Amino acid sequence: MRLNEQDTLSLTERDLKVIWHPYTQMLHARYPTAIVRAEGSYLFDEDGKRYIDAISSWWVILHGHSHPYIADRVSAQIRKLDQVIFAGFTHEPAIELAEKLLGLLPQNQEKVFYTDNGSTAVEVALKMCIQYWHNQGQTRKLVLAFHHGYHGDTFGAMSISGRSAWTAPFDNYLFEVRYIDLPTADNLADLKKQISEISDQLACFVYEPLVQGSAGMVMYSATALDQLMNHCREENILMIQDEVFTGFGRTGKHFAADHLTESPDIMCFSKGLTGGTMPLGLTTCSEEIYNAFLSKDKLKTLFHGHSFTANPLACTAASASLDLLLREETQENINRICRKHAVFIKKTGGHRRIQSARQTGTILAIEWRTETGTSYFDDLRNLLYDYFLDKGILMRPLGNVIYILPPYCISDQDLDHIYEEIEGALELY
Ligand SMILES: *Cc1c(COP(=O)(O)O)cnc(C)c1O
Repeated sequence: MRLNEQDTLSLTERDLKVIWHPYTQMLHARYPTAIVRAEGSYLFDEDGKRYIDAISSWWVILHGHSHPYIADRVSAQIRKLDQVIFAGFTHEPAIELAEKLLGLLPQNQEKVFYTDNGSTAVEVALKMCIQYWHNQGQTRKLVLAFHHGYHGDTFGAMSISGRSAWTAPFDNYLFEVRYIDLPTADNLADLKKQISEISDQLACFVYEPLVQGSAGMVMYSATALDQLMNHCREENILMIQDEVFTGFGRTGKHFAADHLTESPDIMCFSKGLTGGTMPLGLTTCSEEIYNAFLSKDKLKTLFHGHSFTANPLACTAASASLDLLLREETQENINRICRKHAVFIKKTGGHRRIQSARQTGTILAIEWRTETGTSYFDDLRNLLYDYFLDKGILMRPLGNVIYILPPYCISDQDLDHIYEEIEGALELY
């Protein structure tokens, strides 16, 4: 494209010439909405239209967009130290964040390993487990995971996610996973039996605690998970708790771990980690995992790292976001959203078009009742997406499931507006 063309074209038109978007069939994609500014729970497009960000921009924003406290901290940091290699060097933002975060996690979490997104946080967790056994002279090839789980799009993370149309082109290249159902009071005994049969082949058990986000906000009981974790502990199976989505207040408590009594060996974080302002991932682990890599034998080192590992700006943003999370005002906002979701479910959950209305903390999901097959799901999904976008609400239904997980600063008025539009959609579709 010639450069002087840029002046006459909209951002959307310029985008179409040069950009390939994620999770998008570009052949018949709706024109992407060009956002030029964001503040609090609002996004503003190039025509000045305002959208309520009901899904926290793909589940990442915590305290609202362009929060001045995070912006000030990051801008001071970029003038001081922007980036430095993290092998052989360190810096205060990384240390401070690790200290703060470990203080909030289950007591057995002792060390922080930095990366730069959720998938890589999971990759590192997998490598920690596989090499934990390797360093002790054991080969353990099998991974235990839930059906329909989601842990990211890189190859290792994709391998341990549920197999689906999305992974189909790659299935021959993914490693071996044993899938089990989510635990319930009824199937627990059977699950334990299945696990015991393969426990000595398992490198680890990986799971999304309480809520399987990408599966359609599928929710399950903390008690049942606790019992399953207890069994894994008894069977000496390493546990990776993927809190990439559930971390930082989404479930109503700081972490899904705060709903559980058992503790995992390894935890993964990203998404809300920086308050949604910057890419950062991290993996925490117990002393036992860490110690399995300490050796005079260099081959027992964890050989993993990324160019932007522990980027000082991202660590500063995360540290600032944690400060905000711990503020009383934020905790009150989280409780307020939890209460309002519960009231909405009580009022509307019985609607004839609703198959299931469910909530975990600040996450509300409404599953549409559908009589027909999959193609209708696709249609419904697109109808609902367009319906809400046209009303100035950003939603991104997962099939026939719509969900909201707003930034914690969202006003009561905006929440009520979203609930009303959901009720409107229930009458139409
Ligand atoms: C989104 C997500 C990931 C992947 O994170 P990315 O930053 O998108 O790579 C991993 N696990 C869970 C539970 C997620 O929701």
